[in-house]
Amino acid sequence: MSVLLKVNDLRKHFPIRRSFTEVITRRKQRFVKAVDGISFEIKKGETLGLVGESGSGKTTTGRLVLRLIEPSSGNVVFEDTNIMALSKEEMRRFRKRMQVIFQDPMAALNPYMKIGEAIRHGLQIHHIGASKKEQKEMVMEMLRRVNLTPENDFYNRYPRELSGGQRQRAVIARALVLQPKFIVADEAVAMLDVSVRSQLLKLLTDLKQEMDLTYLFITHDLATTKYICHRIAVMYLGKIVEIGSFENIYNNPLHPYTKALIAAVPEPDPMRKKQKSIPQGEVPDPVNPPSGCRFHPRCSVASKECSAIEPQLIETEKGHFVACHLHK
Ligand code: SF4
Repeated sequence: MSVLLKVNDLRKHFPIRRSFTEVITRRKQRFVKAVDGISFEIKKGETLGLVGESGSGKTTTGRLVLRLIEPSSGNVVFEDTNIMALSKEEMRRFRKRMQVIFQDPMAALNPYMKIGEAIRHGLQIHHIGASKKEQKEMVMEMLRRVNLTPENDFYNRYPRELSGGQRQRAVIARALVLQPKFIVADEAVAMLDVSVRSQLLKLLTDLKQEMDLTYLFITHDLATTKYICHRIAVMYLGKIVEIGSFENIYNNPLHPYTKALIAAVPEPDPMRKKQKSIPQGEVPDPVNPPSGCRFHPRCSVASKECSAIEPQLIETEKGHFVACHLHK
């Protein structure tokens, strides 16, 4: 499989607004290091899960990958194009190949626009379709694909007239009608009930097959990656701490943080008791991340070395990387 997307040493440090006193006392500018030097690849047709707690930097990574925000340094190569080198206009045209599905479909849809028109709007912006009639046919076809049928009926409904699951199907249709190659799904099923969530995950999997898509699937919930991801990257405080195949991460997790996340996944069989040991303590402040290994204040097996030396990602077996002093 060829590489579709390559992320190289990407960083995003957000400056913190200084108070008046800080300005006149010339206090040094401080930064939130939301993403702090991450690299990974996604192969064509693959789904990479990006997992971590809130504050890990996974949503910022999704936005950087699509260049919805500018990085502090690093780049993203999509096929053979370094998207960070594109002009604003070139990026606008390029963006139809890379689409995003956010968590909250109500916020993503204009409440005053009919669903069909909201989906057609993207076709208009990108000048896809020779006429309004052709665009409407493309929208109808997309509504059928996401199972919003009868499509004529759904075309003319407003977002408030749809259930949460139907609204998210409409958002998926709006992204896919542009025939993208790559989708960032950012907590795309997080707000839905469990039964609707599994239907949506199945829909995303089916559409991926049918439309030859590649996904970056961002989630705080490791359990959802089971249904959709080929590989998983675990993020902690702006860094990737482990990355490997789905089997590597589930059957042989190496990083203590990954182990804790796996232990916290609910057991489907209620008769089998499993210890839920989410990592103890709060995620530290990304303005002043801990020295050495950023996980050391919460790690039950930390040693002296852990607070002094930052572990680097190393490959322990083919395609399985971990950043932890226990694995050198
Ligand atoms: Fe724990 Fe040390 Fe490994 Fe960090 S490097 S995860 S503190 S054992």
